[in-house]
Amino acid sequence: MSRKDVVIHSDREIEGIRRAARATAAVLADLAAYVAPGLSTLDVDRRAAELIRDCGGESAFLGYGGFPGCICISLNDEIIHGIGRAGRIIAPGDLVSMDVGVRIDGFVGDSARTVCAGGPPEGQKAALLRATEESLAAGIAMACGGRYVNDISAAVEAVVRRCGFSVVRDFVGHGCGRSLHEPPEVPNFAQRSPGARLQPGMVLAIEPMVTVGSHRVEIDRQDRWTVRTADGGLSAHAEHMVLITRDKPEILT
Ligand code: MG
Ligand code: MG
Repeated sequence: MSRKDVVIHSDREIEGIRRAARATAAVLADLAAYVAPGLSTLDVDRRAAELIRDCGGESAFLGYGGFPGCICISLNDEIIHGIGRAGRIIAPGDLVSMDVGVRIDGFVGDSARTVCAGGPPEGQKAALLRATEESLAAGIAMACGGRYVNDISAAVEAVVRRCGFSVVRDFVGHGCGRSLHEPPEVPNFAQRSPGARLQPGMVLAIEPMVTVGSHRVEIDRQDRWTVRTADGGLSAHAEHMVLITRDKPEILT
């Protein structure tokens, strides 16, 4: 395994990553409480822009590969990479996935969660959100020094399958810290090979994208960003950044 397969951060870098991750978590928590029926997805994006500015950071997504939003906001069958729009009004019961990236002093935080607008989710929506959070927790539990990336991938997939849902295969988690996307990739489904060995100082963004129906996805032909389920079924997304240590994983977001 070449050294390029993983990024090991120094203690000084980890301090910077911790600050960026903490700011990311605070912004996401605020947005999760703010989201409500009647708001447009652009309202949420604008609030995110203010919050990120207030914490002394900048959006890690704005302009990334040409992305036009401050955060990604994706509703219902939209899985990831949705763009805030003035005409897109959030309705009661909508599943709202928010993905936030904050850069501070050259370090990056990346975290996502999905909430139900206007009240607690019911039925299948509740089951989907629970499966997504539980699969993320199962993946995080495997993020320990001495294990392998595939231990995370297999743990995430096992929970999602047990709950009767599917995991997206075309988009994956990743290393994160100095830049938004660093090696290694962290798939949400089991691989044939164990993948990179987890070592103290690695920071991974683990991010299951879970669908009610097929795992197949389509990218919006107009905006070329929004990723939707191919079958129009509901989806949810959750993401935490985790520091690999000698023993227990440390959730940074
Ligand atoms: Mg993210
Ligand atoms: Mg990510």
